[in-house]
Amino acid sequence: MKINVNELNNYLDQEITFSGFVDAIRDKKWVMFVILRDNTGKVQMTIEKSDENNQKLLDIMTNLTVESTVKVTGKLVSNEAVKLGGIEIIPSTIEVTSMAQPLPFDFNNLDGVLIDTRLDYRWLDLRNEKNMLARQIESTMVQAMREFLYNNNFTEIHTPKLIGTASESGSSVFELKYFDRKAYLAQSPQFYKQMAMAAGMNRIFEVAPCFRAENSNTNRHATEFTSFDLEFSYIDSYEDVMSLEEDLLIAGLTKVKELYGDKIKEVFNKEVIIPTKPFPKMRLKDLYQELHERYNFDIPEHDIGDMNAEAEKLTYKLALEKYNSEFMFIVDYAATKRPFYHMRDENGVLQGYDLIWRGTEITSGSQREHRFDELAKNAKEKGLGKDVEFYLQFFKYGCPPHGGFAIGVDRLTMLLLGLTIKETQFLFRGPNRLEP
Ligand code: ATP
Repeated sequence: MKINVNELNNYLDQEITFSGFVDAIRDKKWVMFVILRDNTGKVQMTIEKSDENNQKLLDIMTNLTVESTVKVTGKLVSNEAVKLGGIEIIPSTIEVTSMAQPLPFDFNNLDGVLIDTRLDYRWLDLRNEKNMLARQIESTMVQAMREFLYNNNFTEIHTPKLIGTASESGSSVFELKYFDRKAYLAQSPQFYKQMAMAAGMNRIFEVAPCFRAENSNTNRHATEFTSFDLEFSYIDSYEDVMSLEEDLLIAGLTKVKELYGDKIKEVFNKEVIIPTKPFPKMRLKDLYQELHERYNFDIPEHDIGDMNAEAEKLTYKLALEKYNSEFMFIVDYAATKRPFYHMRDENGVLQGYDLIWRGTEITSGSQREHRFDELAKNAKEKGLGKDVEFYLQFFKYGCPPHGGFAIGVDRLTMLLLGLTIKETQFLFRGPNRLEP
């Protein structure tokens, strides 16, 4: 197994083999310093020019470009004068494992480099320390959330992304040729999560792509994104769903703060704040009133019963000012603005919510309608016919009361680190971007 930079201290005064990128070559009069790098850090390799045996190594390095990769064998020694961790590798052999051509831009200094140029060469862009760190932080957040669910008896499932009908909600679906018929890319695993409830699986989750044919160019929408989706049974109300989401986010953020809190402050200038339960909650009607009174904001006519980007931003401001919280649940959306599978109470009030964090929606959740007759009625009201017939069948043979939510993973990372979605996704997918 390759030894990583952050493990080198275990090998002091030993003969080691180290592989990595050539980060920098500093050719001085008496000595050549080569900085080697992997995704865990940097280490110095020192080649003395006065030693005749080193001529071959010097020749190799003189002809090498930065960002080439090498496999170095040598002795790891301590040297207090070395700024990089007080250690250095004194090489005996250097093997060039790949030679780098001149780079299209300096990934260490991305100021002024267009985001589209960065995305064209995303594998170079990702070499930037900040981007490398963002990937590790996202992985930690998702791992901690997964672990929380495993510890709470959730089962991870994998639902199909190829689907036969263009269903569900207003968001547009991608259509594709499927042999001699049409198929679609799933915009969410919603129907299949609920099928798992009808199957009696009790508690499930999935972390998987969702596809949305939305021709929008915002800093928070992608045409393909990763959704952290879950669904669980035997709930009493959507309050149970909100409570689980609070615990889940607290678990994720606690782990991230523990492992990366200081680094996030240093590199991204963002504080990781662990929220406390319960997160503040507001009814949409009351929110409208507060936003009007405090900020003179009125929701445009066509968005009444729902939120828009501006309202989300101001909701964050309000949450901070009124509750000293970065999070806020919004409830009592208009049923006309929400999917038909969200439950409504006897007064028609929607049993669902959105969660706003740092000015952007990160989640929609609800208690679902599990009663066949009610669900069929709601679907019909929305004008959904044949497309949801297969889904309605799930509720015919007994199905426990249940609820769930979906958190956009890309949005979580983006808001955690103060980035845009293009900078955040491993590879952004948008209306004008399908490559690389
Ligand atoms: P928005 O109103 O922001 O477009 P939405 O209401 O369409 O989002 P949902 O269908 O409720 O979103 O999806 C659940 C979650 O998935 C959202 O809260 C968000 O975190 C994430 N999400 C939805 N659409 C996108 C997208 N196009 N790109 C990235 N993340 C998304």
